[in-house]
Amino acid sequence: MGDKEFDAIVVGSGITGGWAAKELTEAGLKVLLIERGREIRHREDYKTEMKAPWEMPLRGLGDMRRYRADYPTQMQARLFNEYTQHHFVNDREHPYTTDEGTEFAWLRGYQLGGRSLTWGRQAYRWSDYDFDANRRDGHGTDWPIRYRDLAPWYDKVEEFIGVSGAAEGLPQLPDGRFQPAMQLNAVERALRERIRARWPERCLTIGRTANLTQSKDDEGRAACQNRSICARGCSYGAYFSTQSSTLPAARKTGRLTLVTDAQVDAVDYDPATKRATGVRWIDTATGTRRRASARLVFLNAGAFNSVHLLLNSASDAMPHGLANSSGVLGTHIMDHPNALAAVAMMPGFEQHTTFGNRPTGIVIARYRNLDDPDGTGHTRGYSFQGGALQAAWTRGRGMGGIGAGFKQSLRQVGPWECVLIAYADCLPRASNRLYLDKTRTDKYGTPQLGIEFAFGKEEHAAIAQAHVDAKEMLTASGGIVVAGFAQPGRAGTAIHEMGGARMGDDPATSVLNRWSQAHDVPNLFVTDGAQMSSSACQNPSLTYMALTARACDHAVAQLKAGML
Ligand SMILES: Cc1cc2nc3c(=O)[nH]c(=O)nc-3n(C[C@H](O)[C@H](O)[C@H](O)COP(=O)(O)OP(=O)(O)OC[C@H]3O[C@@H](n4cnc5c(N)ncnc54)[C@H](O)[C@@H]3O)c2cc1C
Ligand code: SF4
Repeated sequence: MGDKEFDAIVVGSGITGGWAAKELTEAGLKVLLIERGREIRHREDYKTEMKAPWEMPLRGLGDMRRYRADYPTQMQARLFNEYTQHHFVNDREHPYTTDEGTEFAWLRGYQLGGRSLTWGRQAYRWSDYDFDANRRDGHGTDWPIRYRDLAPWYDKVEEFIGVSGAAEGLPQLPDGRFQPAMQLNAVERALRERIRARWPERCLTIGRTANLTQSKDDEGRAACQNRSICARGCSYGAYFSTQSSTLPAARKTGRLTLVTDAQVDAVDYDPATKRATGVRWIDTATGTRRRASARLVFLNAGAFNSVHLLLNSASDAMPHGLANSSGVLGTHIMDHPNALAAVAMMPGFEQHTTFGNRPTGIVIARYRNLDDPDGTGHTRGYSFQGGALQAAWTRGRGMGGIGAGFKQSLRQVGPWECVLIAYADCLPRASNRLYLDKTRTDKYGTPQLGIEFAFGKEEHAAIAQAHVDAKEMLTASGGIVVAGFAQPGRAGTAIHEMGGARMGDDPATSVLNRWSQAHDVPNLFVTDGAQMSSSACQNPSLTYMALTARACDHAVAQLKAGML
């Protein structure tokens, strides 16, 4: 690819890269989208999408011996199974370093569409409780933006991707431009009322999810069929993924060039102009090294991969990594501490049942430490996701029994149970960091990424309190609590890793400015999770998308004004 062939290069085709490609091409730019993984064509390549368990070699469960050898980290994702395994990386082929005594489950999908194919589609706005948190309690660095800066971009993203949900008027979980909400089931409706009666500040609502409840005919996307097997890919285009939504929009402009099987290993930088000049990559099918140039570079490789690229792009001019004059590149990484806070049997609803498999659950919005610290040992908050389910025939796996009678008993629906999973805010800490492990390289000679991470006492206190609250709420609602954890699960398993190239107004303490633009390299933008200065306790991808759309708008304006 020749010099200055493109106006912009976007690295990574997942949730944020798809948005960058769409926005930049729609603004008239010629864009090269580079993806390290293989091509996955919408519809054609969702090979397991329509398969029943009896059509799968191992009935959907998969070969555990192989998974333990090749996918020991990825198999910790709740959705990892024989139907979805090809949407996760092979851990042996994509190693990373964790220091002794620390652990981080880095859950990834290297393919066209990235993790947009497997994400849980929970899409929540952040509020000023989140954007103001660092300033208020002194952890991390102040966000240079507030909710009002992002609100119009949330509108734009929600309208395009399609988010169903119910408006609740909560300042800590702002309402959005929703499609009609999916329905709470009978147990959840009762829980909502019983919790509200005892704790009026606790709001249980239906999950806000990027599954269409109304078709988007002009985009070739149908309404959801309520099968809840989304991570296999969806030919209806009923949930938001790069393939169903942003990639077709970018292609429609005629200005997109897509390269797959192309692992970018560095961004080139010209110290004379102080600009990024392009990127270098390895064609993983042939091992050939390639390069392309552009006037703008967007990094959207997923938070940790984008930081990895910047660290690996050190040069004489920037010896500690590209855009790292502050020295904070790689630091203050976060992931939500999460735990199955409580599971309860819910007697008294036996006469109720549901039809179909609703592909979302419930959320109980954050209620702690909103305006005043409430003395529970942590400064920020947590929320719950989960829902009530009626046990199906699959419960037979864990039961003793044999023969026709046993099978017949499994034809009846089982009892109702309710799970509450806590997701808590993770404080940004300098000691939680990414680094280049120069003692180990991948097969192309690129130093491996190192991850040093541990939850602090605040995160432990939040999850311990969430466990107490979850048990209380379920018991007060007539449930019988049968399980629950007071400790966070393994770090990384929320799959909300973020930070490492944080935003801030001060170039001495942050990597990116308020436009997700590198302080040191004005034509370089990082618009995935790396840019986050705090973590909130909501799922973050909607916010990444809104920040990406906003950054694209700014980049195009600056490019057109001749400033880049
Ligand atoms: C099972 C699961 C459930 C989840 N549920 C939710 C949820 O409900 N709500 C929510 O908000 N978030 C959820 N997430 C997280 C969400 O998927 C991520 O936050 C989101 O995908 C991040 O978007 P991204 O564009 O930064 O990265 P990704 O979507 O991971 O895309 C990054 C892309 O970059 C490519 N890439 C990486 N390195 C390079 C390189 N060197 N060169 C070229 N290409 C590269 C990758 O192959 C990939 O395609 C979930 C994730 C998983 C796996
Ligand atoms: S539940 Fe809806 S979005 Fe998910 S795979 Fe089925 S039709 Fe598609």
